[in-house]
Amino acid sequence: MIVFMVKALKKTKYFEGKGSASSDKISDAEAFVGGLLLRFLQIVQFNAHEVSEFVLIAPRTFDGAKNESLGAAIYPTLALFNHSCHSAQVRLFSGNQVITKAIRNIRKGEIVPENYGQSFTSKVKSQRKAELADRYWFECNCEACQKDWPMYKDMTNSFLSFKCHKCQGPLPVNTDNLLIPFIKCEKCGDQTNILSALKNLQNTEQTFKGACKEMEAFNLEKAESLLIENLKQLESSLYPPYRDYHLTQEAYMRVCLCQGNSKVKPLKTAE
Ligand SMILES: [Zn+2]
Ligand SMILES: [Zn+2]
Repeated sequence: MIVFMVKALKKTKYFEGKGSASSDKISDAEAFVGGLLLRFLQIVQFNAHEVSEFVLIAPRTFDGAKNESLGAAIYPTLALFNHSCHSAQVRLFSGNQVITKAIRNIRKGEIVPENYGQSFTSKVKSQRKAELADRYWFECNCEACQKDWPMYKDMTNSFLSFKCHKCQGPLPVNTDNLLIPFIKCEKCGDQTNILSALKNLQNTEQTFKGACKEMEAFNLEKAESLLIENLKQLESSLYPPYRDYHLTQEAYMRVCLCQGNSKVKPLKTAE
């Protein structure tokens, strides 16, 4: 395929004196362009990215606003990101630049995944896996798939996974039957008093309400900093998945998207 394309470019005099005179030999310029074409063709099949803009239906309000697709593009650096059904990033566009922002804490050395359109919060595991295998030819083994995380609509606060104060190991707790707040860690054997984490979670409710108010007033920078603060507070106490965490991430993504390319397109009214 690439040989054919380079030959076609040669025929149309694309290389203008930098190409080789012989049809069998390849000059440095032809090899370079051929290499680029090969790289782009390899990216196109599985790693092209949607280009989008955020569309508001009225100025300064998130009500009814949504991200709309404009087309697709090849970004060789973004193409390096692998998929997880629990994405770590939101992608937005500013002019002709693409920006990707973290939507959760990423530990040193941890993979930074993006999402190939299959989020665990909105699709069941079997459907995600089938669609990823069909479109991208791989079997997803992300944490959400391995642990069969519930979809957003099925999440409850009855089962929460707190963090061990000593080793950060997970402390699964049935909060409906919580008699004593001391939870023993399976990993290190130490006990953690989860009362302070529970108190911390109450504080996050206030922070989230504050962020929602700033979003309503369209104070994007204030909303953004409150949502980041909220994510940090939640992450210090609990492991995902749980509703408040994903609600905060969702709100944070909308605030980020609104700071990229956006436009106001009022809804058409019936005449
Ligand atoms: Zn997955
Ligand atoms: Zn521990």
